[in-house]
Amino acid sequence: MNHLLPYRIRVAVPVPIHDCFDYEVSAQQYADLKIGMRVSVPFGRQICVAIVIEKIALDTELSTQFKLKKITDILDQKPLLDQHILKLLIWSAQYYMYPLGEVIQSAFPAKLRQGHRYDVVTPEWQLNPTPHDLDQQLKRSSKQKVAYEYLQTHQGHVLENQLNQQGISTATLKTLEKKQLITKQDVPIDFSRHPVNLAENELIANTEQQHVLNQILPLLTQYHGYLLDGITGSGKTEIYLQIMWQILKQNKQVLVLVPEIGLTPQTIARFSARFDCPIALLHSGLNETKRLQAWQQAQTGQAGIILGTRSAIYVPIPDLGLIILDEEHDLSFKQQEGFRYHARDVALYRGYLAQCPVILGSATPSIDSFALAKHGKLTHLILNQRAGHASLPKMHILDLKIAPKQHGLSVMLIEKIKATLQKNQQVLVFLNRRGYAPVLMCESCAWQANCPQCDAHFTLHTQPYTHLHCHHCGLIQTLPKHCPACQHTTLKPIGLGTVKIEEGLKELFPTYDVLRVDKDSTRHVGSLEKIYAQIHTEKPLILLGTQMLAKGHHFPHVSLVAILDVDAGLLSVDFRAPERTAQLITQVSGRAGRGNVHGEVILQTLRPDHPILHTLLEHDYRTFAQQTLKERESACLPPYRYSVLIRSDAKNEKDHLAFLTQCAETLTTSAQQSIDIWGPIPAPMQRKAGKYHAHMLLLSENRAQLHYYVSHWWQQVRAITPSHIRLSIDIDPQELG
Ligand code: ADP
Ligand code: ZN
Ligand code: ZN
Repeated sequence: MNHLLPYRIRVAVPVPIHDCFDYEVSAQQYADLKIGMRVSVPFGRQICVAIVIEKIALDTELSTQFKLKKITDILDQKPLLDQHILKLLIWSAQYYMYPLGEVIQSAFPAKLRQGHRYDVVTPEWQLNPTPHDLDQQLKRSSKQKVAYEYLQTHQGHVLENQLNQQGISTATLKTLEKKQLITKQDVPIDFSRHPVNLAENELIANTEQQHVLNQILPLLTQYHGYLLDGITGSGKTEIYLQIMWQILKQNKQVLVLVPEIGLTPQTIARFSARFDCPIALLHSGLNETKRLQAWQQAQTGQAGIILGTRSAIYVPIPDLGLIILDEEHDLSFKQQEGFRYHARDVALYRGYLAQCPVILGSATPSIDSFALAKHGKLTHLILNQRAGHASLPKMHILDLKIAPKQHGLSVMLIEKIKATLQKNQQVLVFLNRRGYAPVLMCESCAWQANCPQCDAHFTLHTQPYTHLHCHHCGLIQTLPKHCPACQHTTLKPIGLGTVKIEEGLKELFPTYDVLRVDKDSTRHVGSLEKIYAQIHTEKPLILLGTQMLAKGHHFPHVSLVAILDVDAGLLSVDFRAPERTAQLITQVSGRAGRGNVHGEVILQTLRPDHPILHTLLEHDYRTFAQQTLKERESACLPPYRYSVLIRSDAKNEKDHLAFLTQCAETLTTSAQQSIDIWGPIPAPMQRKAGKYHAHMLLLSENRAQLHYYVSHWWQQVRAITPSHIRLSIDIDPQELG
């Protein structure tokens, strides 16, 4: 028997286990510790960084045969996570059925996850008393002289960061330190709050905008969800800015979430042009030091605006007064691996916890949000007119079956492009397929180059050198010289990729610039900015690219948009495919005619009679959404039923299907009639990266029951899953596959 001290803490450890763990602490540690602080604890054979979730003081010493371990260290002096964010994280872990310790990781920048000190100090260099032989000492090095003089002209002390930004290296400073001319000291970082000011005047809201503002403005101090459903260019951003000002004025903070690729310099520029206030930027492109600093700016309350991508939804913000999620339909708000949360749903719950408004904005709202609006959970706000002078583009369908073609472009489209360029306007050509061609085929025997690890064709790439690339597993192979099946040299690229279209356009329009925007052409930092800068010069040119072009950016001088191939989206088996296709078409079309010129959109398709195209052509996205909602209702599909997707993968094809089937049976037994189980079936791409994939969809009209049964069942399933099968759970999945 051991005797345990009566003080213990319960912590979340970043391991794939759902439970929290208890550790023993001394009376002093117990007094020092607060919920939301980090501690280091022994776990298995390692030392882990854990978060205090609960403090437990027992009345007496306890005798137990289990010895509790002691914590190794307390890492913080103050809690890093406040009650509000902890509550959100605990809710998320339960809702998404993911281990709390790993969920909490999402709230931290890497440095804090790894146990680094929460630096509230930063190095500063200070001048020592001037020695008599100063000139002598600085004579030899102009660098040292510059550094010394910079300090002299700045009151004798400057932050190392600022010196570095001036091009003064830390090495130079250290040399001066050796000569005893300067001293380094840690000084507190200034995280104090600054008053926020308007840096430019607000625009005068038009009638529609005013109507929307009138509905939001009276309810700023409580939770309320809005769906701001406004066509591209209708002035949604102006509405965000005006509401933000009302919140910032009261010294509260605003969280703005944008899609991964929507966080363009343009967005940032618009915010900083309007507000004179610190903006904390949080996105995946930051280095860890910058990320930590932005996180601290948010967490201390210094930043008025926190502008970030998906994971910023978990940043602690003490005075949160408003959440805005722009382009709310965008799939990048849903994490597609590991902890599969949806930032949109988490945002609504966060707004409820913080008692602040949440605005979801889009020109093409998700069907899920339409349903919430229809059932009164969100207030539906509509903007139907373009702000300023721009008008909506006209859309035409071009039947590829009958149209004569050149380089994959119909002749009529080529004529339109020519006419547009001659009018000194810009053209946007959209094709959602990068590389040269999606298939390499033998003309003699019909052999096709397929990835040996996936059920997929290799994509042929010609840049930066010719090779075959699997877009699903990343495998790269050299091009065979002969057909491996019949030995002929009749290998031919089939279908169109952006590079092939680029080649064709350059041949057809040799005197104009063709700018290609896809994952390959924008790999280098700054290349996208360069392309965007060129577009804003008003020069007539052709902009060609993938869905990167469908998001966020405005192209005021584009007056013709050509969508080369919408057919892939029309054919998919996923019930959400029509929604995605309609969003893509509408978003791409929305890039046209935003300036003073009239816009036109051409859709090339082999299925000119497809109902989606006609609804969009004759009506608009909103009509399409309303029809889709009705169809989902009659088919009992989400959002009319709640869903959970179980995915599995294994090296062996039969094993995991049998295992999933067995799991499905236990769920049927426990949940009786309340859950409908589809599958298990092989995934749409069954073999991927050398593994077999299958899935199983669980559906129910009753969310509480679904979660109740599935969470119990999932715990059991996890416990008995053999190590060669990998299972994952996806609550409210957005993609089947
Ligand atoms: P959205 O976010 O819906 O795409 P924006 O807010 O970016 O729309 O507005 C589109 C364009 O119209 C921008 O150039 C913006 O400056 C302008 N604009 C927005 N509201 C007004 C207004 N009330 N008066 C004049 N111009 C406006
Ligand atoms: Zn062949
Ligand atoms: Zn592959």
